[in-house]
Amino acid sequence: MNTIVIVGSSLAGLRAAETLRQEKFDGRIVMIGAEDRAPYDRPPLSKKVLSGEWDADRVTLRKPDDLATLNLEWKLGSPAVDLNTSERTVTLASGETIAFDGLIIATGGIVKRLPNQPTWRGVHTLRSLDDSLALREELADGRRVVVIGAGFIGLEVAATARGRGCEVTVLEGLEAPMIRGLGAEMGRNAALVHEDNGVGLRFGVRVSGLVEGEPGVVAGVALETGEVVPADVVLVGIGVAPSTDWLTTSGLTIRDGVVCDRTLNAGVRGVYAAGDVCRWHNDLYDREMRVEHWTTASEQGAAAARNLLAVARGEEPKPFVDVPFFWSDQFTARIQFVGRSEGGENATIVVGSPEERQFVALYEREGRLVAALGVSRPRQLMPFRKLIGERATMEQAMELVRSFVAT
Ligand SMILES: Cc1cc2nc3c(=O)[nH]c(=O)nc-3n(C[C@H](O)[C@H](O)[C@H](O)COP(=O)(O)OP(=O)(O)OC[C@H]3O[C@@H](n4cnc5c(N)ncnc54)[C@H](O)[C@@H]3O)c2cc1C
Repeated sequence: MNTIVIVGSSLAGLRAAETLRQEKFDGRIVMIGAEDRAPYDRPPLSKKVLSGEWDADRVTLRKPDDLATLNLEWKLGSPAVDLNTSERTVTLASGETIAFDGLIIATGGIVKRLPNQPTWRGVHTLRSLDDSLALREELADGRRVVVIGAGFIGLEVAATARGRGCEVTVLEGLEAPMIRGLGAEMGRNAALVHEDNGVGLRFGVRVSGLVEGEPGVVAGVALETGEVVPADVVLVGIGVAPSTDWLTTSGLTIRDGVVCDRTLNAGVRGVYAAGDVCRWHNDLYDREMRVEHWTTASEQGAAAARNLLAVARGEEPKPFVDVPFFWSDQFTARIQFVGRSEGGENATIVVGSPEERQFVALYEREGRLVAALGVSRPRQLMPFRKLIGERATMEQAMELVRSFVAT
């Protein structure tokens, strides 16, 4: 194993590179990144960078000196456009072709857009640092911001924009906020803080398009009913698709992500995937999943690197077994979620209450604890991550709850 190529120079890719060095791989590591920036962190882009509390340079994931010790060969600003698995080469948009012995695919996600989404002033999506800085420029006192999509990113932007004095309306097609992550009832409970802070939340509304005011400037969002919601700024927050376009002719199986086995191998010797782009078989839930959370991307980057080296050394690779975890900050609420809700579980509040804007809810399926939600209860939530990993029953989970009450 002489050359390992990592495509995607962000969280999962960086963690993979660091792990290769920690595991004593001293060959060539080539880091390919579409963005012309050193690896940076995305969660602050909808929070402290967007609010203006942080300067852009605070989001770098590692200091230049720490990156230098990794001895990586950087190829930034030119995306990979092709993977040839028989020749074992990656080709960049610049035309350069790089041969590899091992490959880690960590190309993350790209934001979804509205059909025929115009490029008018005032219309935004949010994935990159540049996106965040461009949106930040537009958030000023009294401006009317319309967020399309009440998922986590949309609601974080809503909270941050409101904090900057904007008038904010959120439009959601489904009947509740954060429904895919939390389910309808808990989504509603977790989003009460938006009503407290004067964000207008509208559910079951279908957007038909954007409305132009002055030429090239957005003036509103049109609904299927014919109503127009006036807007100076529109954030389209309708989700993320895995960044797999460059793999179309690679022969890898692509199905809403790069399909991998339980060890994150993509079906070709020495080729692994990690992070938002990776769809793998998670033994804990006995099913395939793709997760768009910071912690999973970080842990998968490290696991993919370890398994790549293990197989090259003739050792057994380890399954990547994950209890997904994410957090979201909206106004004063810190929302944390461990495990996985597919919809259809029974979710019960066991500590606190929505009225107090602080609670813990447990999600149960067939007697087993599958997920837990905490709103502004960080210390009480995290022990459930371990329990879920141990396939705990609801009875065992309730014992933990009783121990909170006792102390
Ligand atoms: C605004 C925002 C806020 C978030 N907040 C939270 C949060 O509070 N909590 C949480 O758990 N998670 C949060 N997330 C999600 C978290 O940041 C992601 O799960 C994480 O960034 C995934 O890391 P990744 O390395 O897999 O992918 P990414 O971070 O998307 O990085 C992939 C990299 O690959 C590059 N790339 C793509 N295609 C190519 C190509 N063909 N060639 C070369 N390079 C390519 C991209 O430019 C990018 O730099 C947030 C995400 C965003 C955008």
